[in-house]
Amino acid sequence: MMKLHIDRFTRSILTTGISVALGASAAAAQSETTAANFGPGNPFYAASALPFQAPPFDKIKDSDYQPAIDAGMAQQIGEVEAIANSPAPPTFDNTIVAMERTGQLLNRVWMAFNCVTGANTDDDLQKVQDYEAPRLAAHQDAIYLNARLFARVKAVYDQRASLHLDAESLRLVEYDYQQFVKAGANLSEADKAKLKKLNEEEATLENAFITKLLAAAKAGAYLTGDVKSLAGLSDAQIAAASQAAQARKQQGWLIPLQNTTQQPDLAYLADRATRQAIFENSWNRAEKGDANDTRATIARLAQLRAEKAALLGFPNYAAWNLTDQMAKTPEAAKHFLDALVPASTARAAGEAKDIQALIDAQHGGFAVEPWDWEFYSEQVRKAKYDLDQSEIKPYFELNNVLENGVFYAANQLYGLTFKERKDIPVYQQDVRVFEVFDADSKPLALWYCDYYKRDNKNGGAWMDVLVNQSKLLGQLPVVFNVANFEKPAPGEPALLSFDDVTTMFHEFGHALHGMFADTKYPSLSGTQVPRDFVEFPSQFNEHWASYPAVFQHYAHHYKTGASMPAELAAKIEKSKTFNQGYLFTEILSASELDLEWHTLPATAPLQNPDTFEVEALRRTHLDLSYVPPRYRSSYFLHIWANGYAAGYYAYSWSEMLDDDAFQWFLDHGGMTRANGDRFRQMVLSRGNTEDLEKMYDAWLGGKPSIEPMLKFRGLKGN
Ligand SMILES: [Zn+2]
Repeated sequence: MMKLHIDRFTRSILTTGISVALGASAAAAQSETTAANFGPGNPFYAASALPFQAPPFDKIKDSDYQPAIDAGMAQQIGEVEAIANSPAPPTFDNTIVAMERTGQLLNRVWMAFNCVTGANTDDDLQKVQDYEAPRLAAHQDAIYLNARLFARVKAVYDQRASLHLDAESLRLVEYDYQQFVKAGANLSEADKAKLKKLNEEEATLENAFITKLLAAAKAGAYLTGDVKSLAGLSDAQIAAASQAAQARKQQGWLIPLQNTTQQPDLAYLADRATRQAIFENSWNRAEKGDANDTRATIARLAQLRAEKAALLGFPNYAAWNLTDQMAKTPEAAKHFLDALVPASTARAAGEAKDIQALIDAQHGGFAVEPWDWEFYSEQVRKAKYDLDQSEIKPYFELNNVLENGVFYAANQLYGLTFKERKDIPVYQQDVRVFEVFDADSKPLALWYCDYYKRDNKNGGAWMDVLVNQSKLLGQLPVVFNVANFEKPAPGEPALLSFDDVTTMFHEFGHALHGMFADTKYPSLSGTQVPRDFVEFPSQFNEHWASYPAVFQHYAHHYKTGASMPAELAAKIEKSKTFNQGYLFTEILSASELDLEWHTLPATAPLQNPDTFEVEALRRTHLDLSYVPPRYRSSYFLHIWANGYAAGYYAYSWSEMLDDDAFQWFLDHGGMTRANGDRFRQMVLSRGNTEDLEKMYDAWLGGKPSIEPMLKFRGLKGN
């Protein structure tokens, strides 16, 4: 399966701790000056009056964010102080529930800010982000390291058994306590001060990494004045390259870099020198010794995280960070990955042999290099599977895939219907908004999509929320999906690859997890689950993209309306296991690299990222010359700045869950409302309101198995 789309869904600093609701600041005093500029004229001042409390993007100016963020932090500090200093004995309501109600202004502004800085940033927003990121980290520390507040939380935690709480409330008490302890609430005052410093430095470095990488990726675009070097690209691709150059006021043709090591055009470019140049632009994007070089940043980040873990009493960062995950320990995660390496690399070696045979048959006279892989594998694919993307794409027009595929599947499984809302303001003209209705026609959520690539958007695809579902706060969910599909020339249709189609289903799976949220407390709502569970609903939803009843409903030619011929559809199905040795090995490489970086002890010296990477790949038996990691350390955004530190394994872990779950559907009658409703009720609506392993096992009626994953990946059998 084409899986594992770059996904940035847990980017927000607010999703890491006690959740969205808490943050709080040592910088409160300073914020009073800018907070003074904050009044009813600011669009974040009061809850939005728009449907679903949607952000009033038509009224929000760049200059509104900072005063609102500062005022939001100051307000939350006041609220938290009031709880911590209350003379009343601590109770569940006056402590735990009260905390859930704090920080509503900060949430409101931060979620909108997080959305625009990720998807539609500019220099002013970047400046605010650079300024606020460390302050927010300090704000969060101020809450978790507030000794009086922790004493109250601990008091409630200690008496939880006698409080007769409902299951969700009990979970919240245990969750809050665990988050406080994880954040260092049990440390001495001196160590708390050290931790605060490390957290601030970490946030600053993470933010510096994002800024450098965005600039490095932009500068790494391949520009040529000679169209002949682009031989092999279609007329449409060449026109897009010309348009991309014009958009940057450059002469010639420009091919922008995508997040991953491999670049999509490498599959078509016939000129080997061009392929090598583009690959090297990608591979070295952040290692040029200029202002955008990230190596010093990541070396210090790895060291700093190890120091932080040591302070908190753990042997390394991964050990600390996995305590609240489904895997629980780095050893468990590593054991899981290591077990997959032999089958995956053996399959990759077989694929390399096929490619080399093709190069030799064409008298190429060279050994396969990473920049050749996509080009020749596309030929092997054509020879073995006769699958040509240009033949396929006309059947995957974006709007059609959305309405007759993504929405259709959600209708068949869960009874949802969708209506476009042109009256809800958006942050950029390409963004679309839909109101989502439940099976009983009641409004369920708002869903935004922002699908086209822009220079001021982070790479990849992701989901996040603008308003978090909570019965306590009376909020319905507002969620959004972002992707980086090529924007067609005016008047042309947006034709997608099947990989893009899968990305749409994937991100929509996250969206469903957010939209079905039906919980009382905002901290436990929707997608706020551990990283090794969070990709389960999204990857599960990918399966429906190729489920026959769904596929036949959307795969129609954009000009003629004809259904995709059965033999072409069969070829797509057959080709799904093609190249999986390569694809899964590059993922395993990235996953192992992540764990290697984050199991460094605090005593280790500052690493040279290039040497470290080579040695880490050798240690894990993933040093294949022709399969570089999906992300090189120096541009591995997930682990350095997007909340996936020691968590990239989670994609594969979740894959075990989603393949296993889909197999359950197949074994129980497939796509039925009964199956969909049961899954929604027992999993998708539950957020983090119960132990996730128990939740999964209860729904499945047993433990998850790795067998369906090996089968769907094509790594076993066939
Ligand atoms: Zn995802």
